[in-house]
Amino acid sequence: MENYKKFKIITYGCQMNVHESEKIAGILSELNYVMTEDEKQADIIVFNTCCIRENAEDRAFGNVGALKKLKKANKNLIIAVGGCMTQQKGFAKSFHESYPFVDIIFGTHNLDNFKLLLQKKLSSKKTIIEVLEKEGSICETTNKLRSSYPNAWVNISYGCNNFCSYCIVPYVRGRERSRKEVDIINECKSLIEDGYKEITLLGQNVNSYGNDLEGVTFASLIKKISQIEGDFRLSFMTNHPKDFNEELIKALAKSDKISKRVHLPVQAGSNRILKLMNRKYTREDYLSKVNLLRKYIPDIAITTDIMVGFPTETEEDFMDTFNLVKEVGFSGAFTFVYSRRKGTPAAEMDGQIPEDVSKNRIMALIDYQNEFNREESKKYLNKTVEILCEGYDDKKKMYLGRDTYGRMAYFSSDKELIGRFVDVKIIKTGGISLLGEVVKVK
Ligand code: SF4
Repeated sequence: MENYKKFKIITYGCQMNVHESEKIAGILSELNYVMTEDEKQADIIVFNTCCIRENAEDRAFGNVGALKKLKKANKNLIIAVGGCMTQQKGFAKSFHESYPFVDIIFGTHNLDNFKLLLQKKLSSKKTIIEVLEKEGSICETTNKLRSSYPNAWVNISYGCNNFCSYCIVPYVRGRERSRKEVDIINECKSLIEDGYKEITLLGQNVNSYGNDLEGVTFASLIKKISQIEGDFRLSFMTNHPKDFNEELIKALAKSDKISKRVHLPVQAGSNRILKLMNRKYTREDYLSKVNLLRKYIPDIAITTDIMVGFPTETEEDFMDTFNLVKEVGFSGAFTFVYSRRKGTPAAEMDGQIPEDVSKNRIMALIDYQNEFNREESKKYLNKTVEILCEGYDDKKKMYLGRDTYGRMAYFSSDKELIGRFVDVKIIKTGGISLLGEVVKVK
């Protein structure tokens, strides 16, 4: 093992990026590199970056800069930077000027070509800069070195056509392209055969899957996947309320393999702000979809994303959001302060909101949601729930996993449980996580 070359990948941002890092890891494994967590041991360090929010970008800049010393000490170290951040128009050139010690700069559209980029670098002293302007066809041959057992991520589409006015994604990930149904189903089958227990389908907007294909929809796709033999859960992210429809809700209601949680980002509860955001639904549309979902699946857990401090957001707009949160009763809410992204329409809007105003608003939402979670957790006390054991927390010395509603529980056992479905009796409830005792290992 000592003779193998080693790689480290540092990933920022969303699940999509986590999965793309699994692809880079797969490419490097095929080249006989092995993974290390220690950057001093690494022969190659890859940054898979995100530019959706400013702080993720700032962290990446800081962490790349911090490697300058390591590169000086080890001239053979290869540093590669790719992902959404480098895909921004004009970015690669200025990044190269500021960080000339970076060896490879690549974008989101040529990640599958990483082997080629690395080979080019190994035979050249120059920095390899390759950021393609246009998305190409979908590559189906890249191996993945998966790191999240028993969970497996499966892309169903790439890119986005929605152009929400605050969002950089359509500019750095291109137009929406759906993978062929047969490729997705085959990948899911082989993951289930390999023992993966939770398959999460990924797309910027999974609900518009198939719009560029003939005769398939997201609802028809998940019906087929949920019919695959085996003991597994099926989840998906992210949904867009404008495309989340009754056909899909009926498909969710019919299968007991599909997790009983839906992430339905609302972003705002004010119709004026939703319009400025170019979200293409109203508060009323959103609430009617929530009601429809609960009509078919009364116990569904709904989570959401909320953005505060969008340009021109007034106190009244914010209260519309706050009241919508109260009305829906979300099982979880990811709250964000609006982050101004150069190149998006919202960045040019007048009425940017001062940071302290946004902070106060987000804190009010977080406080409310935390209290709501605490109350909801109490309902679990003394109940027995089925948990998929996902890992072991070394600090707590306990296993952890989630139920079908996405609620996290901790429990002890002297047996190896990762990847097993376990019945757990909840004996203590907290904010978002639960503490339980194993009743039965399935
Ligand atoms: S749906 Fe909107 S927020 Fe989501 S990736 Fe597309 S443009 Fe961005």
